[in-house]
Amino acid sequence: MTTSKYALFGALAMLSTTTALAGDFIYKPASATEIAAHHQKVAGSHRERFVKPYEVQRLSQNVYWISVANYNVTAVIGQHSVLLIDAPHGTGKQLLAAIKSFTDKPLSGIVYSHAHADHVGDSRLIQTALADTHIEIYATAEVRDALHSHKVTAPAPVTQIIGDTFKFEGHTFKTLSNFNGHTQDNTALLIQDQGRTIIHAIDLVHPDQLEFRSFSNVEDAIAYKNDIDTLMALDWDVMVTGHSNLGYKADVQFVQDYIRDVQTFIHAGLAKAQFAEHFKGESPFSWYAGYTNEVIDFAHAKMAEKYRAGREEEFDIVAKSHVRVMFWAMFARAL
Ligand SMILES: [Zn+2]
Repeated sequence: MTTSKYALFGALAMLSTTTALAGDFIYKPASATEIAAHHQKVAGSHRERFVKPYEVQRLSQNVYWISVANYNVTAVIGQHSVLLIDAPHGTGKQLLAAIKSFTDKPLSGIVYSHAHADHVGDSRLIQTALADTHIEIYATAEVRDALHSHKVTAPAPVTQIIGDTFKFEGHTFKTLSNFNGHTQDNTALLIQDQGRTIIHAIDLVHPDQLEFRSFSNVEDAIAYKNDIDTLMALDWDVMVTGHSNLGYKADVQFVQDYIRDVQTFIHAGLAKAQFAEHFKGESPFSWYAGYTNEVIDFAHAKMAEKYRAGREEEFDIVAKSHVRVMFWAMFARAL
């Protein structure tokens, strides 16, 4: 009796963790030795991933995905040492333990993807923990300037500015600075390693989830849509996304389709809503509030018909914010 009850719970848990949004993915436990095959993701629920000290998945001969408390980073093994791409706030100790679990080589550098402390804030803690070693801090001039202008003081200061290409101990990375939606300075890195291309592109796609609130609090929703199109057009095999699971083109495709639907339903709402019907009272704010809320509510209802079933909790938290942020970005530009 008890066994069958637990078996049922197990089956339900499996169902909830393997419900893919797009594409046919294979879910296996994280492995620091076996290279993840195409469309292979790391098994386990978001809750399990959050409470484990760390998980390591090998992506190619020298490139590893490390996940700590719902944040993901990339580690690259060079000829003599290890390079980390990002060091999220609150993960530093676990990241150092994770690196030790798959290599004896020392950490020698950290690259910043963008000037958000939640993704790079523990670089200072890592520098302090490895006080005997010089840890180089790499970033584009754009990221360094954003850290200064936003007064982001938690991360360690940048010591080396990187350009369009960036060499590290036998590896040459392509630095892509044309991702401007999440933040102006957001930088993706393309890493080619023994026949595999890994892209480190942060806060753009949450594999196996709807996107976070307001598409991860985009600074510019239209630029974000363009970022997703750019991600689709680039040539790569597997993505380190910053959160959730490993990402593939099928995950990006899902977001691209979702954004297209948001925009289509906003256009349908605009075609239907009549400004004159909201032209009441003395405040122009109230006319626009009535009119724009009608459009946003219409588009949100259409999105619910298509996307809510099976992910009601998530949809009800984030979907309205997706429609709203995209609506205002489109409205301002008459798109
Ligand atoms: Zn961010």
